[in-house]
Amino acid sequence: MDIFSVDRETLERDYDAMIADKDASAGLVEGSYRRKDGTFIAVEARRRAVHTEAGWIIAGTATDITLRKLAEEALRASEERFRRIFELAGAGVALIGLDRRFTRVNRRLCEILGYSEAELLTLTGRQISHPDDLDMINVQRPRLYAGEIDVVRVEKRYLRKDGSAVWASFTMTVERDAAGKPLYEIAIYEDISGRKDAEEELKRSNAELEQFAYVASHDLQEPLRMVASYTQLLGKRYGEKLEGDAKEFMAYIVDGAGRMKQLIEDLLAYSRVGTRGREFKPVKLDAVVARARISLRAALEESGGELTSDPLPEVTGDELQLFQLVQNLAGNALKFRGEAPPRVHVSSIEKEHEYEISVQDNGIGIDPQYFERIFMVFQRLHDKGRYPGTGIGLAICKKVVDRHGGHLRVESKPGEGSCFKFTLPKK
Ligand code: ADP
Repeated sequence: MDIFSVDRETLERDYDAMIADKDASAGLVEGSYRRKDGTFIAVEARRRAVHTEAGWIIAGTATDITLRKLAEEALRASEERFRRIFELAGAGVALIGLDRRFTRVNRRLCEILGYSEAELLTLTGRQISHPDDLDMINVQRPRLYAGEIDVVRVEKRYLRKDGSAVWASFTMTVERDAAGKPLYEIAIYEDISGRKDAEEELKRSNAELEQFAYVASHDLQEPLRMVASYTQLLGKRYGEKLEGDAKEFMAYIVDGAGRMKQLIEDLLAYSRVGTRGREFKPVKLDAVVARARISLRAALEESGGELTSDPLPEVTGDELQLFQLVQNLAGNALKFRGEAPPRVHVSSIEKEHEYEISVQDNGIGIDPQYFERIFMVFQRLHDKGRYPGTGIGLAICKKVVDRHGGHLRVESKPGEGSCFKFTLPKK
């Protein structure tokens, strides 16, 4: 009793209780012993009252539980750390049992979904999913459990308690025991409603703009045709009678009307990529290049050029637009040629989710500072005297590739040729 941390009174009460055999649990007690050198040692003491001829004695053993105490403390600290991170996280976090029910949710998840913690703990993810996004996670779960993938990542909608929809970026992984048996799921939810709204708005305003460009360029054609044809008529009938400057002015009008006609047609072609696209079908890129070779025959002959290609894959897309794409890129390669006869080569690399197609030329090349500008509508780097064109070709190419879910970019150095690369997703 002199060196045990538990006070005398409590110990004596225990002893009395044990002797009376009323309270068996009084036999076990945790505390610490003070060692001779003044340090303490954690112990668990087991005691028992034994009746002897000399009367009652208390027999006891004491076990050193220092290590157990340290392990318990470490576990408590790590639990506390985990709890703080869990609660502080800016994203919604949940632990989900194998029966799919939430077993632990943080404050942020409650905010995102509009339920209290107690309410969420009675629910499954499926019960609060938007009816149109029900099985997005389920279809991937078997692969996650089989270990074929490490995480499931989807963007889907949930229904908040008030019935409104919220877009979430959802990431889930499964926690396993030492033998690999699934124990529970860890899921992270990020509220991406703001981003989704912005995307929707962008899509809507793009569609409106496209429609506007289409209608405007379409309706501008008619009055322009009138200007052009009556100017021509004027020239034919009264050309002889015109004097001095008047003839020159007439030529400017005809030239201006001609250029405007070209611009309007180009704009129309540009807006048609989005509004008049056809359904996607399997397309053999080999055949697309062959067709481009035929349509560029005059330019190839005139320049002494060559359009070659490696074997190319079959992709899914709009055949006419892919043809326009290849024809524009190869056409530019012939147009912006250097001193040597143009050599244009089309090749392809297969990546995990996409094909990357390259159109390489040996032409004049492009200064990197213009890499972005050349893809914009009506942006060109040269005056029309040397290289004719309106600057719509690459804008159309970019729009076609965008519509196919890919990316178009260029690699080039002035004087060393250009390589235009576009990707097309496999699916
Ligand atoms: P356009 O051919 O009517 O000028 P594009 O949109 O097709 O319009 O091209 C925009 C600009 O990009 C061109 O004016 C040219 O300066 C540059 N360009 C395009 N393709 C090439 C190429 N293969 N080599 C060098 N410059 C190119």
